[in-house]
Amino acid sequence: MAAGYGATEPESKSATEVTADALTDLASRVDALSGELGLAAASLRRGSEDARTVGYRLADHNGTLQYLAAELKGAAADLVHITTAREPGRCPVEWGACPEHGATLRYIANEAITRCTRPGCARTWTRDASVLPCGEPVTHSVVESTGDHVEFCVGHAVDARARLIGATITALNAREA
Ligand SMILES: [Zn+2]
Ligand SMILES: [Zn+2]
Repeated sequence: MAAGYGATEPESKSATEVTADALTDLASRVDALSGELGLAAASLRRGSEDARTVGYRLADHNGTLQYLAAELKGAAADLVHITTAREPGRCPVEWGACPEHGATLRYIANEAITRCTRPGCARTWTRDASVLPCGEPVTHSVVESTGDHVEFCVGHAVDARARLIGATITALNAREA
């Protein structure tokens, strides 16, 4: 097994050194490769019957490269999101929330989109909010019945109101006023 991938291994430093720009650059190279492959496949399909057979085989892989380029762009966007989400003043919850309905989000893998599942709510997110940290600006102070204090975004404050019995939830701007 490769070092650094086990659950008990310490986090690999090199893993965090891949930047969003590097992934975007990789995506453009895959895009270019996809273009070249498309041209080669089209050219083969215009040739002899034998060439056409080979051309159709290659054409199947053009979609694979386009999918890979889209995945790389999505991964770059995820890295940007995570970097922002870890800054001070950002909601610390490890998954997303609808600002109106709370913990109602579901990622639809085949659409590569996260939707709020509450009927009538049209909000969507282009990232997988079930595995990526929330990262919205904090708006509410939550003091749990145990005395623990956390600060949440508006969506997670909505969720805490529904879920945390006996918690005191206050808007931060109201408290400062
Ligand atoms: Zn909603
Ligand atoms: Zn949040």
